[in-house]
Amino acid sequence: MDSGKSVIDIDSIRKEFPILSRGANDRPLIYLDNTATSQTPSTVVDAVVDMYEHHKANVHRGVHLLSREATDMQEATRRRVAAYINASPEEVIFTRGTTEAINLVASSFGQRFSEGDEVILTVMEHHANIVPWQLLQSQRGIKVRVVDIDDRGVLNQEQYRSLFGPRTVMAAFCHVSNVLGTVNPVKDMIAVAHGYGVPVLVDGAQASPHLNLDMKDLDCDFYAFSSHKMYGPAGVGVLYGRRDLLESMPPYQGGGEMIRHVSFEGTTFADLPFKFEAGTPDFVDIAAFARCFDFIERVGMVHIAAHEHELLDYATERMLEIPDLRIYGTAPDKSAVISFNVGDIHNYDLGLLLDRLGVAVRTGHHCAQPLMERFGIQGTVRASFAVYNTLEEVDIFISALRKVTAMLS
Ligand code: PLP
Repeated sequence: MDSGKSVIDIDSIRKEFPILSRGANDRPLIYLDNTATSQTPSTVVDAVVDMYEHHKANVHRGVHLLSREATDMQEATRRRVAAYINASPEEVIFTRGTTEAINLVASSFGQRFSEGDEVILTVMEHHANIVPWQLLQSQRGIKVRVVDIDDRGVLNQEQYRSLFGPRTVMAAFCHVSNVLGTVNPVKDMIAVAHGYGVPVLVDGAQASPHLNLDMKDLDCDFYAFSSHKMYGPAGVGVLYGRRDLLESMPPYQGGGEMIRHVSFEGTTFADLPFKFEAGTPDFVDIAAFARCFDFIERVGMVHIAAHEHELLDYATERMLEIPDLRIYGTAPDKSAVISFNVGDIHNYDLGLLLDRLGVAVRTGHHCAQPLMERFGIQGTVRASFAVYNTLEEVDIFISALRKVTAMLS
């Protein structure tokens, strides 16, 4: 079928992603695993190659030309990210990804927590936003309180508000669920937390590829996201932190780059953001990461979101025609992720057979085992969409799904 409603030229966008024209198992590749990682346009890949071929030198430590160029490129990305999320460059810390960004906050900010303090999480969190807080449970004796969802996958806001108390020291929740696609009302939730004087960390791993981000508008304290989910290179993430909070926090790791002066009598630390960037950063991928924002802004986040919603609505409608298919996550505000099971077919078997037909989906617990438990299931199949997916691909996916469910039923 024809992608009539999109105002963007999907054919020319697809040409920017060479990987989309490769096959998979002797079929055209239908890549529907964008929630795990999205594909990367040539402009970004070219920027990686350009860095290796023309500018590679370690950042910050060199007086020579290449080192200055590499440093300028890294810092240009920092300014690009800062402008994109409406923050200042000192508030942008480069990490390995969302996971490391959250661990940074839990390890460093968490040092001020003491036994009996409480951190509020939600049942839909990725393990990356559960386990770092659990480590603090065993190290510092904090308690984790968990907000539940309804059967559509919408957070219980009444319960959320009721969990705040005199011992609440942090609330940490995802902006968009990687399983349910639920878009949480994070701005309102942050306002609630701030009403109790509680700082908030938002896990933005699944929001940054699909929504415009404005740290000032959200008024959040910490926000984490990963480059590889927003059409960028793997190995780079961002922690946004409010400057006064970052300044008040101890370093996360020690080493080169993050110091002002080292002696055996004592060490003083560098200013923001370098205090939190010990060791050689992934400066090649950081430099290339800037090109992702060019891509997103050129296509327009509004158009990306509109196209993805068209795919979501169409795929949902067609999937619900399949007997015994159950979708997990039907929130009114939802991003383009569809987690599902069919009858009692194992998610792994479905994924494996879909792969044989060229369709790449993810199966399993999606690093959200507490959420799986909440639904009383082991796992799901998850199809997730990005700007380069088409309605024709949805059709191929649906007919492959019909075929494999018929085989496995
Ligand atoms: N948080 C959410 C909601 C995610 O979906 C993911 C990855 O899928 C992560 C955190 C972890 O991201 P990364 O592996 O890039 O650190």
